[in-house]
Amino acid sequence: MGSTLRIAIVSANILLALFIFQNGFLLKRQEISAKSSCADAHAQPGETCWMSQQYNRTILILVDALRYDFLIPLDNPKNSESPEWFYQGQMKEVGKLIKSGKASIGTLLADPPTTTLQRLKALTTGTLPTFIDAGDNFSPDAAVNEDSFIYQAAQLGKNVTLFGDDTWLSLFPNKFSKSAAYDSFDINDLNSVDDKIAPKIEEEVKYSESSSIIIAHFLGVDHCGHKFGPSHPVMADTLRKMDRIISKTIESMKPTDLLIVIGDHGMTSTGDHGGESDNEIRAGILVHSKKHEIQLPKTPMHQIDIVPTISLLMGLPIPFSNLGTVIVEMFQRDLWEMAVGMNYEQVKRFAETYATQKNFGELHSHTARDSNTMEEQIKTMSRIQTLLRVAWTQFDDAYINVGLFSLIEAVLFLMTNEEMSVGWIIYRTGCALLQAALLTDKTDSDGSARTMILMALAVSCLSSTISLAHRALRISLNSIVSARVIGKNA
Ligand SMILES: [Zn+2]
Repeated sequence: MGSTLRIAIVSANILLALFIFQNGFLLKRQEISAKSSCADAHAQPGETCWMSQQYNRTILILVDALRYDFLIPLDNPKNSESPEWFYQGQMKEVGKLIKSGKASIGTLLADPPTTTLQRLKALTTGTLPTFIDAGDNFSPDAAVNEDSFIYQAAQLGKNVTLFGDDTWLSLFPNKFSKSAAYDSFDINDLNSVDDKIAPKIEEEVKYSESSSIIIAHFLGVDHCGHKFGPSHPVMADTLRKMDRIISKTIESMKPTDLLIVIGDHGMTSTGDHGGESDNEIRAGILVHSKKHEIQLPKTPMHQIDIVPTISLLMGLPIPFSNLGTVIVEMFQRDLWEMAVGMNYEQVKRFAETYATQKNFGELHSHTARDSNTMEEQIKTMSRIQTLLRVAWTQFDDAYINVGLFSLIEAVLFLMTNEEMSVGWIIYRTGCALLQAALLTDKTDSDGSARTMILMALAVSCLSSTISLAHRALRISLNSIVSARVIGKNA
């Protein structure tokens, strides 16, 4: 009876300790399921929904793990002995387009974790990651519940076509009007998915007029990185193949089409990704349009900036929870103020909703004041984004410490093998109640629960250590005594 009670109470302590520990690690972003609608913005005159559609079609080519420097054309080719030779300056056709001003390139900063599933969510919803996502990377039920430009397009009856990685289908079930999707998990398979979708996208761009958004997700560069790393002849081949696919797509494009080529993340010098090193978060972007010459900014953009940009260019409402800022350089000059204004109103709407629904009062100070000029509006959006990025990615050291300390204490107590006296039962139940209080009152603003737990834990650790030391001493004394007795008897 005594030992059952002991195990039950200590198990509760350990379980609560694990919960507290985990609470310190979780990002606190909570999803808001609200969706934007056409009525949310004062539409452009003559329009029924936000801004008028600027292109008939957007072709979004996603080259998995396309690092920013893979696209940069080189004036002097790298020495073929150098490790960079295999991935820099290999995309020759793209290089010609960039040099002639027909295409423009830039850097997109991806938020960690730099894993494809999290990046696809960010690239379509404009949101920042939640920590729990990292664990869901391969979960079968990954459907996106938040607003996205895919949802908005489907909602307004615009067709979206998908070629490539089948992760998209699990993220957006029933949202694609046409798809040819393939399994993405076999990293040893460098070519088969890309070879299947390359002719499909060419045909779609050339002959079909039915889709407003065409998405093609190529996997070869990423898989080659995982298998061989970037400095390998196969990488040079794979990049040259992507180069041909991009230039062929451009040849097939109509004057009213827009092409956006992006990497979802980069890769390290060994071809891995997931972390937050420069080479992992810096992905490349290339844009091309026959209608306007686009010059992307030289300074890095955020990956989520793609979301409001595609949305407005395609005549869609910007997704409700988006935190990205429109890339104005992709709009005609006379539309800049309007695009930023609509984006600003949307970010403000989201921030106000989040502040109210999720008890995040700090946001109100940013949304209370009205920003009137384009510059002010961009600054306000960037402040809101920074505030949330910091808040959502912070680790709570207090929780981590209390969690760890509680675990150590429980293990020490178990080692003492102490009988469960009434005193101990009261003490441990008290500990469990304090732990539960810390978990339910997440704010613990004055830190009193934490201080009390830490003090109680310290006393218990001390008592367990004394008891353990006492026992160790007794054992060694006993062995000395028994050794003497044996000696005497002999
Ligand atoms: Zn990968």
